Order: sequence, then C-alpha cells, then structure tokens
Amino acid sequence: MKTIIEPFRIKSVEPIRMTTPGEREQILREAHFNLFLVKAEDVVIDLLTDSGTGAMSSEQWAGVMRGDESYAGARSFYRFEETLKRITGFEHILPTHQGRASERILFSLLGGEGRVVPNNAHFDTTRANIEHSGARAVNLPIPEASEPANRHPFKGNMDVGALKVLIDEVGRERIPCVMLTITNNSGGGQPVSLGNIRAVSEVCRANGLPFFLDACRFAENAWFIKQREDGQKDRPVAEIVREMFDLADGATISAKKDGIVNMGGVLLVRDPDLLRRAGELLILTEGYTTYGGLSGRDLEAMARGFEEVLREDYLRYRIRSTAYLGDRLLEAGIQIIEPPGGHAVYVDARAFCPHIPPEQFPGQSVVCGLYREGGIRSCEIGSVMFGGGSEAPPMELVRLAIPRRVYTQSHIDYVAEVFIALKEKAGALRGMRIVEQPPALRHFTAKFEEI
Ligand SMILES: *Cc1c(COP(=O)(O)O)cnc(C)c1O
Repeated sequence: MKTIIEPFRIKSVEPIRMTTPGEREQILREAHFNLFLVKAEDVVIDLLTDSGTGAMSSEQWAGVMRGDESYAGARSFYRFEETLKRITGFEHILPTHQGRASERILFSLLGGEGRVVPNNAHFDTTRANIEHSGARAVNLPIPEASEPANRHPFKGNMDVGALKVLIDEVGRERIPCVMLTITNNSGGGQPVSLGNIRAVSEVCRANGLPFFLDACRFAENAWFIKQREDGQKDRPVAEIVREMFDLADGATISAKKDGIVNMGGVLLVRDPDLLRRAGELLILTEGYTTYGGLSGRDLEAMARGFEEVLREDYLRYRIRSTAYLGDRLLEAGIQIIEPPGGHAVYVDARAFCPHIPPEQFPGQSVVCGLYREGGIRSCEIGSVMFGGGSEAPPMELVRLAIPRRVYTQSHIDYVAEVFIALKEKAGALRGMRIVEQPPALRHFTAKFEEI
C-alpha cells in the first residue's frame, strides 16, 4: 500500500476553536506580534513546538494511574531506570524535570569562564546554559548545513576537521566536553550519521575529552540512520540507538520529545564522580535522585514513552508525515531546508520574503503572516532567537514543528494550504522591529512592532 496511515486510533479528542481573520488581527496586536504571548486556545493548528505537546498512549495513561508517589525509591523510578538502562546501556540515570534542567546541572559542573563547548549546533537552552556559566558555545556544522537546497542525507553532522582545529586552537584543557545534538534542532531537525558520531567520539577519545549527546530525538535520528546510511537498513532501530549511546560518555535528554511525555528529562553519565556531583545539584534544585522534580506518574509515562518511540511502524509514520508537509511546500515553490527534518519542516524565510533584511526579522514576519492567514502558530529560528548573542545565525528560518500523534493528515493539508495562500501575498509582508526584550532567550518574551 502506498499510504502510510497513522498507526493508532483516536480514543479522546480535544476540540479546536476556530477564529476569524478579524479576531486574529486583534489577538496578534495584543500579543505584540510574539506568538509565545498568544493564548493556546486562540490557535487553530499549533506547530510552535514538538516539545511536550505529544499525545500519550492509553498505556501511558494507564501508567499514570499506577504511578508510585513515594518520596524515595519509588517503584516508578526503578521502572524508568530499568527502561533507560536497557535502551541506552548507561549505568547511571538521573531524572530531571526537563532537558534544560539536565543542561543546567551538567554545565554548572563542566562550564565556567574561559571554557569552550563545541557542538554540531547548540540548541537555544543549551547555548544559554553554557553561556550563563561563563563558557563559550561554538557551533561546528558541516558547510552543507547552511545550504537550504542541499539534500545531503546527514546535514546534522559535525565538521570533524573543524573540531580538530578548534581543539588545537583553544587547547584541550579548556574544552570540558564535546556535544552532538541528535537530531540537530536549530539546524533543521537534520540527522547525524553513525559514521559521524563514531568519528567525533574517536577525536574525543584521542584527546581525552568527554563526549556528550544532546539526545532529545535519538529515535528519530536512528530511523534516519536506518533509512539513509550504508549497511544499516536491516538493523533494528533499537540496536542502532544502542550503538549511538555506546559511543558517548554521557547524554542530556528532554523526554518531551522522543519520550512522548508532556514533562520530563534525563541526565545520563558514565563517570561515577560526575554522577555524584550531578546528584548533589539535582537534590539542591530539582529533587531527590529517584524523582528529580517529577511525580512518580511522570516517570511511569516516560518509561512507556521511551519504549513506544522505538516502534518502527511509529517512526515510519512519524518521519513520513513530516516529509509529507515538506514535499507539499516544495511542490508549491516554497524553499524549505531540504530534505525535510524529522520533527519539523523549516522554511527559508529569506527566500520567502527576500525584501525583508535579517535585521528586520523576516522569520518573525512569516510567523505573524501564518497566524493572520490561518491561525497557525509556528516558531522563528533565526535572528530573533539567536541574534544578539555571540554568533549571528547562518539562516532565517520558520519552524513548523509537528507534535507527536496529535494531528491527522487533513490538519497538515490545511497547513500547506494556508502557507500556499500566504505565498501569494508574501510581497506585502512587513519587517519587524523589537521594542522590548530581556537579556537572554529573548524570543520568549520580546515585543515587536511592524515597520
Ligand atoms: C528541547 C530541547 C532541549 C531542551 O529541553 P527542554 O525540555 O525544553 O528543557 C535541548 N536540546 C534540544 C536539541 C532540544 O530540542
């Protein structure tokens, strides 16, 4: 059969409130043209993020009822720990309330003035946590990553040559760890090949540097490896996942992505000394080491989510449904980052409205245009999110992130239609200026004006 269907039935539904163009115009103005400031019920299709927005399965909800809420040593913790040990092979597993809590703990221990942390592409919270510690966050993507139309199968790869140059330049003693983000979220949701993970791991080993994965989307990354990398197509995804983790010394995970839960995170380490110090910080700011700022029911839901995400019929549907949206936009002449990513389609906002220069935030103009046109909420990943920091972003993107197991094909068809309608009016989109912003992570709260 040609059609890849959603491999689930819907048991519970949540109504969508429709809005009129007039209502949306007023809502947009009241939110100062920042979609983070719009109420969710005023959104028709919410593609702001795939983080924590997935639909849990009936098994996960059943786990919620079985959650053991004991303060220490809860049954739910042991179930969570056993699942993550089995999937990743890591000996030491700490639960945290979300990915950035893992990052904050890790970089409180590894960061600091004068230090440098390389990554293929730092996610915004990772960069912010590193910079908050006083260290410098450096992106080392392969050159193909910044060419939207280049269909390199592993555009998330790190430039291994550039990593070696950086190590020589700054000295290995100033690099507390090397990170790889799989899949790379800020660079288009693009996968990293097993070959590249291996190569980065080898450079780290040769230089005595700890190697960490930002493994939020490890299952999606493994599916791409199975589909695209030589010699991988007959391996079970679980085996590829295990090999990816085997190559690393530690990992941070936001379970709100491939854990398919609404809240949760994980910190995985091999070094017992690092575990001890991380556990101390966890207790200080998150909670005791067997709950890490979560409820027992959250740990149950995570344990089941991490198993469900490895089902290959799920991953086939997941990656195909994202590609379906990407292909429809491409057919309509809308430049996206090719090939489409795993969790999101990233539209090239500079190509969409070439009359708006980067300093007038073309991505933000498109985000506002999509909301006006059809009530779609998307996310700017460009000069709003990454400008004003230590490195200018290489691309101006609008991310359409697809929540897991939430929208059907007709919702996605609607999104494509809205985007195509907006394309007809792209010449009339106006640039933006920021009128108010906080010192860090400004995209969440900045206020804008149309120029
Ligand atoms: C979401 C995300 C994080 C941060 O996780 P939160 O759960 O949002 O704190 C870190 N890295 C990447 C690649 C992410 O996608």
